Amino acid sequence: MIPRKKLIAGNWKMNKTPADGVALVKEIVAAAGKNNDVDMVVCPPFVAIESVGKALEGSNVKLGAQNMHPEASGAFTGEVSAPMLRAVFATHVILGHSERRAYFAETDAFINKKVLAALKNQLKPILCVGETLAEREAGSTLKVVQTQLEGGLEGVSKEQAATVVIAYEPVWAIGTGKVATTDQAQEVHAFIRGLLVKLFGDAIAAKVRILYGGSMKPSNAPELLAQKDIDGGLIGGAALEARSFLELINAAA
Ligand code: PGA
Repeated sequence: MIPRKKLIAGNWKMNKTPADGVALVKEIVAAAGKNNDVDMVVCPPFVAIESVGKALEGSNVKLGAQNMHPEASGAFTGEVSAPMLRAVFATHVILGHSERRAYFAETDAFINKKVLAALKNQLKPILCVGETLAEREAGSTLKVVQTQLEGGLEGVSKEQAATVVIAYEPVWAIGTGKVATTDQAQEVHAFIRGLLVKLFGDAIAAKVRILYGGSMKPSNAPELLAQKDIDGGLIGGAALEARSFLELINAAA
């Protein structure tokens, strides 16, 4: 089996103006722009996406969005579509982040429409799944993850599935400084891999990258990234500074 190339993706959330974002990626590109050992993605807020994309030109760092609407165009005030993201050369899009599920009431069915629209437009979805603290304590982690994964991937073909990225992000570990233990993370990642085998078969499941997200930082990344089914990270806080993001890229190399 060809080993899966690790992927480090920065989710900037609602941080960085265009000027701040460009300054950040200039540092990243200067230090790691030619890195070929790790796939690298940054996901700025929409207003910064085009200028950040220009600053990434000619480098190996790819551009992602943090969300999108499933329709291509129309009367959806405040929304951005897959063709619009393609027009500014985005290649990835984070979908179903727990903050969108919690604060904007996004359901698996709605997230699924976005996943299908992203794939139709040759954008690679980074589909986020993960349980809350209450769900973990109730012993329903795997069930929650299964429902979110199967719901989010409904109708995705085998061929499309190979380009999908999954991010396992336990909600209780996001932005809290509480990281899942490597055993807790690997258990869920292996479970997700098993679900992918059932949905798409061994060969495709072996290709899909499953990222860990939730307080990943340079100090805990090496151990997490050494796990068999952890293929990279979706990074929030530690992606906002060049130094920590670059350290994470090095940890994945
Ligand atoms: P964090 O965020 O690294 O700040 O915990 C991760 C995420 O929400 O994607």
